[in-house]
Amino acid sequence: MTEPAALLAGVLRSICAELPNHEQYLNQLDSALGDGDHGQTISRCLRAIEASLDAAPHLAVPARLFAAGRAVVATAGGASGALIGSALIAAARAAQSSSSAQGGAGQAADLLEAARQEVATRGRVAPGDKTMLDALDPAAASARRVADAGGSVAEAIRGAAEAAERGAAATGAMIGRAGRAGRLGERSRGHHDPGAVSTAIMLRIAAEYLSKAGKP
Ligand code: ADP
Ligand code: MG
Repeated sequence: MTEPAALLAGVLRSICAELPNHEQYLNQLDSALGDGDHGQTISRCLRAIEASLDAAPHLAVPARLFAAGRAVVATAGGASGALIGSALIAAARAAQSSSSAQGGAGQAADLLEAARQEVATRGRVAPGDKTMLDALDPAAASARRVADAGGSVAEAIRGAAEAAERGAAATGAMIGRAGRAGRLGERSRGHHDPGAVSTAIMLRIAAEYLSKAGKP
C-alpha cells in the first residue's frame, strides 16, 4: 500500500474503534432533537466500514473510500447514514481526480471539500441550519487554509477537527431547519446537533491518529 492508503486505512480503523464509545452520548443528543438513534446509526455505519476494511485490506485511497461509502449506503439507514455514505463516495471521486494525488494536506482538503459539497447539496442545507454541515463546512475551510500555508496532512486534519468542534458547539444556539430538528423550530435551540458533534469527534480521532502516525 502507498503511504496515503495506509494512513487512510489507519484513520478509518481508529474511528471504527473509538467512535462507538460515544454512542450513548450521541443517542442522548438525538433524543433532544430527534428520535434518539444517532449513536446507533453511527455505530452501524462504522461496522459497515470495518467490514469493508476486512474484506479488502489493501486498497488505494479512491477505492478504499468507494468501498466504505458503498458499504455505508447499503446498510446504514437514517438521514445521517445516507449522507455519510454519499459524502464518502463524493470524497472517493475527488480522490480519483485530485491534483494532489500524492496525498498530503492538499488532498485531505480536497476530500473534505467534496464531502462538504455533497452534504450541502444532497441534504439541501446551508451553514447555520443546525446539521452536520455546521461542523463539516468550517472543517473543510480550515483544512484548506492549513494546506495552502504548507502544513502537513496531520496539521490540516487537526485544524479541521478544531474548526468542527467550534462549529458543533455553535449549533447549540441555532434553530433547526432540516431533518427532525427542523420540525421543532424555536424549541430546538439550546441543544447541540448530534450529527455536527459526531462529525467533530470523528475528525478529532483522525487528527489524534495522524499525529501519532507521524512520529517515529
Ligand atoms: P435520523 O434523523 O434519520 O434519525 P440520525 O439521527 O442518525 O438520523 O442523524 C441525525 C443527524 O443527521 C442530524 O443531527 C443532522 O446533523 C443530520 N441531518 C439530518 N437531516 C439532514 C440534512 N437534510 N442535511 C444535513 N444533515 C442532516
Ligand atoms: Mg435520529
